[in-house]
Amino acid sequence: MDLALLETHLSDSGQPAYRARQVWEWAARGATGYDAMSNVPAVLREGLSANVPFSTLTVSEEQQAKDGTVKTLFRTHDGHPVEAVLMRYRDGRRSICVSSQSGCPLTCTFCATGAMQFGRNLTTSEILDQALHFRRLEEIDHGRAPKPRDTTHPSRGGASPLTNCVFMGMGEPLMNFDNVIAAARRLPDVGVTPRRTTISTVGWLPGLTRFIDDVDEPIRIALSLHAANPALRSQLMPVNDRYPLADVLAELHRYYELRRRKVYIEYVMLEGVNDTPRHAAELAAILDEKTFKVNLIPYNPTGMYGGSSRDAIAAFKHVLDRARIPATVRLTRGRDIAAACGQLAAPPRAAPV
Ligand code: SAH
Repeated sequence: MDLALLETHLSDSGQPAYRARQVWEWAARGATGYDAMSNVPAVLREGLSANVPFSTLTVSEEQQAKDGTVKTLFRTHDGHPVEAVLMRYRDGRRSICVSSQSGCPLTCTFCATGAMQFGRNLTTSEILDQALHFRRLEEIDHGRAPKPRDTTHPSRGGASPLTNCVFMGMGEPLMNFDNVIAAARRLPDVGVTPRRTTISTVGWLPGLTRFIDDVDEPIRIALSLHAANPALRSQLMPVNDRYPLADVLAELHRYYELRRRKVYIEYVMLEGVNDTPRHAAELAAILDEKTFKVNLIPYNPTGMYGGSSRDAIAAFKHVLDRARIPATVRLTRGRDIAAACGQLAAPPRAAPV
């Protein structure tokens, strides 16, 4: 829902200021349309239906993987493709992976998104509409109809089927700083708290600096590191020439000192490229156990590299363990529908309809 348009439309209709908030809260709790908003006057609901599209995105394809992961391909009103993923875990957690841009202007060699055409930054509403889509999907799956907010019992009707959000879909979130942060600040209404929100970055320094200086919420930050060696990292991620890893790590230390929240390090395991015990030792040498936690990511095939074997990943982790750098191996989800990390890519912009 275009929140700016919503506000203009409501104030043009002479509505009190609280109305926009009321409508947004319905949407955030999984309402499927304006009709469901029982405490909004009927004439107003009609006006909204006619003037403010319920979502800024239209669904053009949706696939479900064997493990329950759902990948949705959306289009913006001007035809740009956007993909997002819902991951369902046995313990009840529901994690969404959202895009911040259509495509990505960076050209990390292992990532499918970098190979597709870059479209543009997504608006705050386009980011939030990805979350709202999955919120509605889960609401429908649970057979629950959303109820108006019960202010005397905030927990009632407010139990959220979504628990976590990662900005790990298409795009570099810190290149679209304002819209990403504005969206993250509204996610609690959808049920996802800042502590359960993670922004993943290649180390886009200007955005990282603003994040540290301007964002007080305890939103988590993750760095896509992938190689400790500068030459190798530049080869895998050309952005490293512009914002060298040493500068990025210095900034992340500053973040830790201010917030006392660990930084996650993402490291995709590419066979014979960055996955030997020597590479692990280089990684251990630039990290410390207090500030960082490493997530080793099995490579999801995008055609460019081979994925490291289980043994190679275990040997790599062993080196980190011995150096006391906390490390885990990321569970791969949705690989059979190309919904896993780095597999989000879509055909170029369709002609606007
Ligand atoms: N641009 C941001 C947000 C995207 S996050 C960033 O790079 O951090 C996407 C994550 O998936 C990153 O950690 C990225 O390095 C990782 N990734 C990319 N391609 C991958 C692939 N083919 N297999 C596994 N992980 C991949």
